[in-house]
Amino acid sequence: MGRIAEVLINIAAKGINKPFSYLLPDEFGFLSVGWRVLVPFGPRQLEGFVMNVTAGDTSGLKPIFDVLDSSVWFNDNMLKTAEWISDYYLCTLAEAMRLFIPGKSGIKAQTHYRIHEAVDAPQVIAHLSAKADFQRQLFEYLKGNGPTNITVLKKKFGPHSLPALQQLLRKKLIVADYTATARLRAKYKSVVELAISPDAAAIAAARLSGKPAQLRLFFALLAKGSLEHSDLAQIKASRATVKALVQAGIAVIRQVQVIRNTYNEKQSVPANITLTAEQQQAVAKISSAIKSQRFHSFLLHGITGSGKTQVYIEAVALVRQNNRQAIVLVPEIALTSQIVFRFRSRFGDDVVVIHSKLSAGERADAWQRLHYQQAGIVIGARSAIFAPLFDIGIIIIDEEHEFTYKQEETPRYHTLAVAMTRARMADAIVVMGSATPSVETYYNALQHKHTLLPMINRINHSALPQVQVVDMREELRAGRRSVLSAPLKELLNETFSRQEQAIILLNRRGYSTFVLCRECGHVMRCPHCSTSLVYHAAGNYLRCHYCQWTEQVPDVCPACRSRYIRYFGTGTQKLEEEFRQQWPYIRMIRMDQDTTGKKMSHHKILAAFAKGSYDVLLGTQMVAKGHDIDNVTAVGIISADTALNLPDFRAAEQTFDLLTQAAGRAGRGIKPGRVVVQTYNPDHYAVQTGAMQDYLSFYKTEISYRHDLGYPPFGQLIKFTIVSSDENISCRQAALTAEELRSGLDDLPNIEIIGPFKAPIAKINDMYRMQLLIKSPGMDIVKTRLNHMDIVSRSNIIIDVDPVNVM
Ligand code: ADP
Ligand code: ZN
Ligand code: ZN
Repeated sequence: MGRIAEVLINIAAKGINKPFSYLLPDEFGFLSVGWRVLVPFGPRQLEGFVMNVTAGDTSGLKPIFDVLDSSVWFNDNMLKTAEWISDYYLCTLAEAMRLFIPGKSGIKAQTHYRIHEAVDAPQVIAHLSAKADFQRQLFEYLKGNGPTNITVLKKKFGPHSLPALQQLLRKKLIVADYTATARLRAKYKSVVELAISPDAAAIAAARLSGKPAQLRLFFALLAKGSLEHSDLAQIKASRATVKALVQAGIAVIRQVQVIRNTYNEKQSVPANITLTAEQQQAVAKISSAIKSQRFHSFLLHGITGSGKTQVYIEAVALVRQNNRQAIVLVPEIALTSQIVFRFRSRFGDDVVVIHSKLSAGERADAWQRLHYQQAGIVIGARSAIFAPLFDIGIIIIDEEHEFTYKQEETPRYHTLAVAMTRARMADAIVVMGSATPSVETYYNALQHKHTLLPMINRINHSALPQVQVVDMREELRAGRRSVLSAPLKELLNETFSRQEQAIILLNRRGYSTFVLCRECGHVMRCPHCSTSLVYHAAGNYLRCHYCQWTEQVPDVCPACRSRYIRYFGTGTQKLEEEFRQQWPYIRMIRMDQDTTGKKMSHHKILAAFAKGSYDVLLGTQMVAKGHDIDNVTAVGIISADTALNLPDFRAAEQTFDLLTQAAGRAGRGIKPGRVVVQTYNPDHYAVQTGAMQDYLSFYKTEISYRHDLGYPPFGQLIKFTIVSSDENISCRQAALTAEELRSGLDDLPNIEIIGPFKAPIAKINDMYRMQLLIKSPGMDIVKTRLNHMDIVSRSNIIIDVDPVNVM
């Protein structure tokens, strides 16, 4: 008989979804549910999570090898949230739990122990010596020697020092300070850079012909200038390929210093802000929920510029006064330096910022600071919802309608749903904010699932901009073929003449330029995906935006050998040319995926634009998001329809959001703003209500369509994607899966199983994709059934619960 720990191994394999038993050695006797440990697993040592501790026959069991933290990692609300994710999103518990740990593998903490400042040491020693002599020895040692590393203590006092230290910690007589060993590492990283001048590019390219991997790397270098490790992984460039280019003298490897704190701006203390009446009302309601320390959720529906961020700040301040912690979620951290800046200037180092460009060490460092309560506020994109906070008081979700809150890889969770669950488990409150709430959230607020907090006035009562809808069919009829309509040109002329600034917006999908043969209509397509390749003028190459395949533009059509190859589409680059012709003197800056590969370059572009170094900011919809520049008085939307034409039930909502958010960028200061929206569908309700920024009218029309069609919030969806490298196999398996689903779920009322059908993008990265949809007003029983079918553990089936797009 001995003690046994049930350990769930942190590996992705879907088949291994149960804990394994390990012997719990005496020295780790303090372990309980939620600790991270290192265990032998086959020939390897892997990270695992303790799920249970029991007594029993330990013969034949391998012992736990080591402990990864100096306190339990998963607290109750993290464990329960993980369990909920695994049930709700039909993934394994390990997949759900690994969302909560820093990095994909365990990073060991360096812990120092010291005596608690507040204790009366002589009294403690006297008290301990009667009952716990070993603990007293440790305490006395710490008192005499100051903060001491765990390794030193173990050497001096033996393995049993760990459980004794745990007891001292529990009695709050000593404190554990964490220092990441990673803090000292990774100060430098290597990057690959181009070693030749762009003028020599053609010659270099010729030398590389017949070496596709090297060519691909070369084109990527041409486009970006320098590539870091993650970029190389993305374009699948191997070490050997890099080495070959270096040996050919085309590339060099350089060590560059990693700048740790990207947001280290000078901190200014903000002028004392007096809240507006609307802000006061919102803060008052949120405050009373905070004080009650019970779960409650709010929807802060405030038009752009109504001062939502200030409400978040006040709420967080109150939560911090109560010594609880805060999670602040933003759609894309790179675009939100303003919110970070405002939180930093109010809360200083109490704020930890998490973004995707952090190294594994930096990320671990940030999470450990939160875990050990060295910081109280985390700001980040969706993954920050899993931050290991000790005691959550509030979760804020800014721009709650944004689709980036949905994770598009397994487990395909939606941040809002996870936040609601985690807050409920932690007795915390949720504040969701948006000018254009998602139809589902707004519906839930009207159903009293969230308390609705409206803010209908802009700070300083600056007027909402005037929006003009331009019918592009009319333009065409009038013989004007320019990308810029006459009204937009006029608006820009006026804006530039007043030395004011403009933002021009192209929808992300609208800026692609395809290469098309005029003779036979052949479009250059990706050989690995069923999509067309996108032309990049900067390096004169073609790239697939799904798998990053890159190739040169052909001289003749591969299908008919014709020389009449044309570029087709309204690219940003093409738009830039029109601008140059029309206004040769204006200064223009572009922001899209091509220009924003490097760390914080969004932030730099925005900062330069805000300073007035440029007259026009041109880009995809990322330029439409939360920045606040007084001198921007004009916004042009080149094509409002691109999103509308998508075969997706959320297309109208996306269009409405785009229009409203974009319009919200104009006239944030004292000067009035104007917006021109170009469209081929001027009568569509999303365009009309978007132009008027009339959320309620949009909502009413949209919700009635959703109701009639049984789409969310009235129905729920689960999407299955069956993938295979063989087209026939994918079809056959999809048919089989459909049969299995039909026979397993057939008897349930109100359930619809749609498909199988070819995915709208039928092939990505050489994998063929078939889809199936389940649609039903309620999914609880469906999920219970599915969890007992082996469909959920098949590695070639991707399951998406509540998909945000049905493509
Ligand atoms: P939203 O997030 O709703 O678009 P913001 O929170 O960014 O709005 O506020 C818009 C602007 O108004 C910001 O520059 C902010 O500093 C300022 N502001 C917010 N609240 C107040 C207030 N009570 N008094 C004065 N200025 C305010
Ligand atoms: Zn052709
Ligand atoms: Zn591709």
